[in-house]
Amino acid sequence: MTRQRRMIADILESVPQRHLTADDVMDIAQTRGLRLSLATVYNTLNQFVAHGLLRRVATARGAIRFDTTPGDHHHFQDETSGQVTDIAPGNVCFSALPEPPPGYRIAGVDVVVRIEPAADEHPVAQARANRPPPKETSR
Ligand SMILES: [Zn+2]
Repeated sequence: MTRQRRMIADILESVPQRHLTADDVMDIAQTRGLRLSLATVYNTLNQFVAHGLLRRVATARGAIRFDTTPGDHHHFQDETSGQVTDIAPGNVCFSALPEPPPGYRIAGVDVVVRIEPAADEHPVAQARANRPPPKETSR
């Protein structure tokens, strides 16, 4: 393993976050005084994905996130912050899946449950609920 790959692997192993963007890894590297280019970070994360060490999270929006938790599981994604958290695989059930096209088999199913703060429980949603509606622009 190259020195740069080792640095990135060390970052992934040492932080509590499990769903990181390449920018997150860059930020952590910088706070530790490590010199890495964004291209190196992306290439390394993609190599780790190719070797099954990381998984790309099929998020609905935002930057690509790399998941350090192995195995099949699903995700909540907070629509306001982009934050991703795990859902245990047994907590999502399917009553039916479509037949894949001829010549294909299903390799996996990734569910992203999009969430937002409930208005009566979260300060961000309360602020949003109290905000005046956007002004209409007339032409
Ligand atoms: Zn995950």
